Amino acid sequence: MWWNPKVEIFRREIRAFAEEVVAPVAQRMDETSEFDSDLLQQLRDRHLLCLLCPVEYGGPDYDTLTYVVAVEELSRICGSTGITVAAANSLGVWPVANFGSKAQKEMVLPGAVTEGHVIVFGLTEPGAGSDAGGTKSAASRQDGDWLLNGSKCFITNPHFAEWIIATAVTRPGEGKHGISSFVFHKSTTGFSVGKREHKLGLHGSDTATLHFDNIRLSAGALFGPEGEGFKQFMKTLDGGRIGIGAMALGLAQGALDIAIEYAGKRRQFGRPIADQQAIQWKLADMATQIEAARHLVYQAADTKDKGGSFARQSAMAKLYASEVGRFCTYQAIQILGGAGYMTANRVERHYRDVKLCEIGEGTSEIQRIVIARHLLKDFERAVEPAATREVAATEPVEI
Ligand SMILES: Cc1cc2nc3c(=O)[nH]c(=O)nc-3n(C[C@H](O)[C@H](O)[C@H](O)COP(=O)(O)OP(=O)(O)OC[C@H]3O[C@@H](n4cnc5c(N)ncnc54)[C@H](O)[C@@H]3O)c2cc1C
Repeated sequence: MWWNPKVEIFRREIRAFAEEVVAPVAQRMDETSEFDSDLLQQLRDRHLLCLLCPVEYGGPDYDTLTYVVAVEELSRICGSTGITVAAANSLGVWPVANFGSKAQKEMVLPGAVTEGHVIVFGLTEPGAGSDAGGTKSAASRQDGDWLLNGSKCFITNPHFAEWIIATAVTRPGEGKHGISSFVFHKSTTGFSVGKREHKLGLHGSDTATLHFDNIRLSAGALFGPEGEGFKQFMKTLDGGRIGIGAMALGLAQGALDIAIEYAGKRRQFGRPIADQQAIQWKLADMATQIEAARHLVYQAADTKDKGGSFARQSAMAKLYASEVGRFCTYQAIQILGGAGYMTANRVERHYRDVKLCEIGEGTSEIQRIVIARHLLKDFERAVEPAATREVAATEPVEI
């Protein structure tokens, strides 16, 4: 089982931090669409942006389960804080620690710990979302260097990022196998970040476009072997999805907690609305679904920590938890009535924020494709000719 006292102690610490430090600024971040700079510094100081950094580079080296609990507890109060931490860890620190060369790790990771440097993950492009194999950004060889051109859209954390990892086509005509990835510093000439996007929710979270305009990169900027970029990014997303599931879980739990408290206090027809069976059933359904989602998310994290194959579980965890998140935040607004529609009570923010969980790191439709492919893998093996079998069994599916 995944429960252990160490994780629960950590949960209590993060919950206290979220309630004491994040809660007072969460609403303002939503209204101003800016991440609070003091809060960002606190996330850095407390090593929350490098939870997954290995100990050999100075990091706390937490396991996935502990990281997931951090994202859940932060999101219970503020989705923007949850996604900022989730992206910095599972889309930043984790791929560098797992796919970077020794030199790249030494260059990037110690700063992630001592300075709280943030690494961003650039995969999505205007023409390549769910179909990340359609990447158009390209890097060509020039005098032993690489010349990178293109753009990435909807990227999380770019305005306070130090390092960028991004995919680009290096062998045109080879499809997904011609995609490589690169890591470079934000100060590299030719790199720029667009304006902050205006979004439905997660207003505090920084989202923007990355522009690559004739960026000259040394051979050492290639991230892992040439042609492995697509695979690396798909594997990264398998893990990242557990974090998005945790975010949905936290947003749902936060909405349920508010709804329970409100239902106990709000009196109509001479008694608390919590006395009404209609309200009780809503609360019961919310709590049951949250508990089921928590099992899926924690189980996926636990399987990853134990070195098992977890792509199917992480897709299920993200798919289910994000739909539970939508259901619970919607029901919470209903339980609060008109007060739920007002920004002061936070549940409408959770409702807006949780929608991202059905889109980011692979939409719900894509998660269903991933799950179905795993279910049908053996069937495909039986009916497909040997030449296609290998691809079907090993190739990561789209995000
Ligand atoms: C707030 C936010 C933060 C993000 N952060 C990052 C980040 O840090 N890094 C990064 O690289 N990306 C990031 N993304 C991008 C995100 O991963 C993509 O938006 C997502 O993968 C979907 O791609 P798309 O938006 O192009 O939608 P599309 O791929 O255009 O999909 C549109 C619709 O078509 C459906 N669809 C597409 N293909 C299929 C299919 N084969 N079968 C059935 N339905 C299909 C989709 O499910 C969806 O409903 C972020 C997005 C958001 C909104």
